[in-house]
Amino acid sequence: MMPVNRGHQPMPFDLQAALNKRAEQGLLRQRQILQSGQGRFIRLNDQSYLNFSSNDYLGLAAQPFLTQAWQTGLDKWGAGAGASPLVTGYTQAHADLEQTLAEWLGVESVMLFSTGFAANQAVIKALLQKEHSQYQDRLNHASLQEAGAQSPAKMLRFRHNDMAHLASLLQPQTGLIISEGVFSMDGDQAPCQQLADLAAQSGNWLMIDDAHGLGVLGEQGQGSLSHQQVSPNGVHIRMATFGKALGVAGAFVGGSKQLIDYLVNFARDYVYSTHLPPAQACAIQAAIHWVKQADVERAHLQSLIHLFRTGIAELGFAIGDSVTAIQPVLIGDADKAIAVADRLRARGLWVTAIRPPTVPQGTARLRITLTAAHQASDVSLLLGALKECMADV
Ligand SMILES: *Cc1c(COP(=O)(O)O)cnc(C)c1O
Repeated sequence: MMPVNRGHQPMPFDLQAALNKRAEQGLLRQRQILQSGQGRFIRLNDQSYLNFSSNDYLGLAAQPFLTQAWQTGLDKWGAGAGASPLVTGYTQAHADLEQTLAEWLGVESVMLFSTGFAANQAVIKALLQKEHSQYQDRLNHASLQEAGAQSPAKMLRFRHNDMAHLASLLQPQTGLIISEGVFSMDGDQAPCQQLADLAAQSGNWLMIDDAHGLGVLGEQGQGSLSHQQVSPNGVHIRMATFGKALGVAGAFVGGSKQLIDYLVNFARDYVYSTHLPPAQACAIQAAIHWVKQADVERAHLQSLIHLFRTGIAELGFAIGDSVTAIQPVLIGDADKAIAVADRLRARGLWVTAIRPPTVPQGTARLRITLTAAHQASDVSLLLGALKECMADV
């Protein structure tokens, strides 16, 4: 038998050195244990905090109708899917959800994934081969950049939302332009019509990851394309997660029937992975049904965003170009961002400091998210606290 490694023997991986380096840079990450579910307030360390760090933009995650739909689905379908979708894991509950999504978003065909991260891996790795190029916005989410880096295709990054730069990089009929609809760390929006025009003119495909637009923007919460009045036909691949405004988890990819048929056959992240539980598909159905009609919640969220931005401008802080629920307050230095977040916590406000490598060096920030569960008085409280906590950091 091999001797048990007691920490003295040489090991193949120097994990401690990597952790030490992160700690020295002030970038070591630690998880926080929540003692409550998501909501306007969250409980941690036996204390209640007003929550400005959730992507549950419509306050849906804790809604009783949603958990009830999930429970009804459990009674009908049991707990797990039991197999991958190509074996016996594809149920009527999944097919019905795909149909609902296709009709809601105006796409021909849809497939489901357990996470948005997996969906992006699946699409990019199944599609892009050595002879292809990918044109990615520099601020694209890690799941897009990661998949792109692992694919054999040439990676060309264009400056954030810079269409002239993108146009200068584009080679005809070489591959895929990839952008987020609403950028996850800045809250600003991609110029979707210009992206669609450039794709059409150059004979390339366009993929939009609308993780932060779905449910929040556009008619019936259809997302960024509807909000910007861009025809769905101009976008070849649409993707979004159900883990944000839809309050559940999971994701979809939508496009032509041919695209979905191709991915069902060639996307390894789909073929070799247990399908998401059918009961979860039932919960997502209920979430969509609610989201389509949630104009009051969307309007309330917009009024909170307006209130926040007006207040921040009066305080004179650097704020992003965002009219969405994601409101970054730029600080720059990572340690300072942590210090401000700590001060806010001491006042009962939970705000996350986002540091490199999640955002570029020197752009550490507070990533404040507003949700329809907040009240106007919550925003006033936050503004008052920010004024005091940002002083002489
Ligand atoms: C959150 C997010 C994802 C990943 O989705 P999950 O369902 O959380 O895995 C993908 N893209 C963007 C832009 C995101 O913000």
